[in-house]
Amino acid sequence: MLRKLKKRIDSFIAHPNSQDEGIFSLLWQAMPYYVSRKGFSLFPKIIYLVVNSVCNLHCKMCDVGMNDKETYFYKNMVADARQELDPTRLKALFEEVKKFKPLISITSTEPLLYGPLLEVCEYATKKCGLKVSINTNGLLLEDMAEGLLRAGITRIVVSLDGPPEVNDMIRGFSGGFNRVLAGMRKIDRIKKQRKLRYPRFATIHVVTNYNYDSLDRIPDYFSGIDIEKFIFSHMTFITQEMADAHNRIYAHIYPITHSCIGGGIDPKKVDVEVLWDQLNKVKRMLKNKAFFSPTMDKEDLQKYYLEPDSFVGGHRCYIPWGVSQITASGDVIGLTRCFHYPMGNIYENSFKEIWNGDKLRRFRKDLRAKGAFVACSRCRGVL
Ligand code: SF4
Repeated sequence: MLRKLKKRIDSFIAHPNSQDEGIFSLLWQAMPYYVSRKGFSLFPKIIYLVVNSVCNLHCKMCDVGMNDKETYFYKNMVADARQELDPTRLKALFEEVKKFKPLISITSTEPLLYGPLLEVCEYATKKCGLKVSINTNGLLLEDMAEGLLRAGITRIVVSLDGPPEVNDMIRGFSGGFNRVLAGMRKIDRIKKQRKLRYPRFATIHVVTNYNYDSLDRIPDYFSGIDIEKFIFSHMTFITQEMADAHNRIYAHIYPITHSCIGGGIDPKKVDVEVLWDQLNKVKRMLKNKAFFSPTMDKEDLQKYYLEPDSFVGGHRCYIPWGVSQITASGDVIGLTRCFHYPMGNIYENSFKEIWNGDKLRRFRKDLRAKGAFVACSRCRGVL
């Protein structure tokens, strides 16, 4: 039990958007899970924003990059009606939530392609006193360096999936790795010249069957850049078999589709012995800067890749009690990897009305009764 709890906490801390929460803060946040039978929750610690619906890469492990339009992941990332969030509505949202100080985490689809990005970030940080984190593929970092530094962003999380040739093959963009690195170096250099504390850098490396054997070649490329966390994130996915097993039970309330397995992604092609060796190597190289999402021992690692429908780590999802995600059309959902189940829309209601509104409370009650659903086994919510 204690071992499991420690693993969940380690995995939480490894998360790029963890705000280095203390254990008491996490327990306080989790309290309504146990005491509110009606599905109420304290306001979220993190609000994720899908600010737009476009990307400039074609990553093999992403349904948007692979144009797999049938998946719920795609539908959560690419809006039908509105293609991007209205900056005026976003500023009003920041005003509304500033009292409970959530981290504003702008994750998708590719935030640096969102025209009003710097304007809304600056509003959140300087007018509302909020912390803002951005997850990016980094291609435009060099062009936008000055603006990003001015906007007061707390953390920039850059996705790179291997040494240059591996990364560029996975992401479908020749020369991409070096371009991203040039952008990171530029920001790092200016930051040091001006003695700025922010933005901090984290890198995230999604482990797949394309790169599991070359992870130890990644860290050297970043020498000289001040990086807070190197996060090795195991691929999250839903296979067709997992989706079918889930839908046999839950299709009438929370249907699901396969996701993030286009582009030749196949967890069973990962040689776990080699991966285990690689993870230990990067751990030795990076010491306390290496994070693994989720943290797993060798036995769980085997299960993770070879038995995708079995749960590793936890069997309970607390996501809708602690974080919220808003899509480009204004829908409030669980996570982009979660069900395509909008629980309200910020163009129709205030965030607070939605957060403890009927639909979200019903989802919390259903989820709490089950712990997690069949399709949850490779979602961050339970890892
Ligand atoms: S674990 Fe399940 S319920 Fe929780 S966020 Fe993931 S898909 Fe949604």
